[in-house]
Amino acid sequence: MLALSLALCTCKKETKLDQKAGPFDFLSAEKYPALIVDIQYMNGFQPEAATISHLKAFLEARLNKPQGVSFSISAIPAQGKASYSLEDIKEMESKYRMHHTAGVNIVAFYLFLDGGYTSDGGSLKTLGVAYDNTSMAIFEKTVVDYSGGLGEPSQTVLESTVMEHEFGHLLGLVNSGTAMRSSHEGYTHHCDESSCLMFHTVETTDVIANLLNGVPELEQQCIDDLRGNGGK
Ligand SMILES: [Zn+2]
Ligand SMILES: [Zn+2]
Repeated sequence: MLALSLALCTCKKETKLDQKAGPFDFLSAEKYPALIVDIQYMNGFQPEAATISHLKAFLEARLNKPQGVSFSISAIPAQGKASYSLEDIKEMESKYRMHHTAGVNIVAFYLFLDGGYTSDGGSLKTLGVAYDNTSMAIFEKTVVDYSGGLGEPSQTVLESTVMEHEFGHLLGLVNSGTAMRSSHEGYTHHCDESSCLMFHTVETTDVIANLLNGVPELEQQCIDDLRGNGGK
């Protein structure tokens, strides 16, 4: 009985730290010198190894994490639904998320789904969403459907693009927890530079035709914002 209540206590405390963790905590080394990226994917919908390498390089280039960026990747049962709502996603996070912000580690969570988003309509589909300050979902079925074919980006390019764009929102881009050094907000919380990783079309299937040159990078104004809030 005592052990059970202690376990509950620890869990609640850790969740609380996730809720408090913000862009500055991801960008700077002040509170958290290390980052763990917790990825839970539905069976058969895992990110490619090359995507993880790309994401790791992206994070190491922008975040001050002298004790390192590490990954914890595991499979969860596929749910087999055509689409998932935000409530479904949050429920699965509370069931399957493995790591929480604690000690030297801040944690970012990705859920990889075997279906689409309930808001998907017609030809415009959502590829990813950052729905909480340390939490993101990737609609991997849609990513797979829209990559690897004729005139489409490779799966690695599309996955890296969406994972990095959503992480950009956790870093407070654009004008969303990290102050703008210069005015460059186009659509709400997105960059107005069409070649930038944080342009609004990057998280929907609208981006497909614009990935012929590979994964988009952050342009200078977004980088300046991150540097102004503890990043590099
Ligand atoms: Zn976005
Ligand atoms: Zn930008």
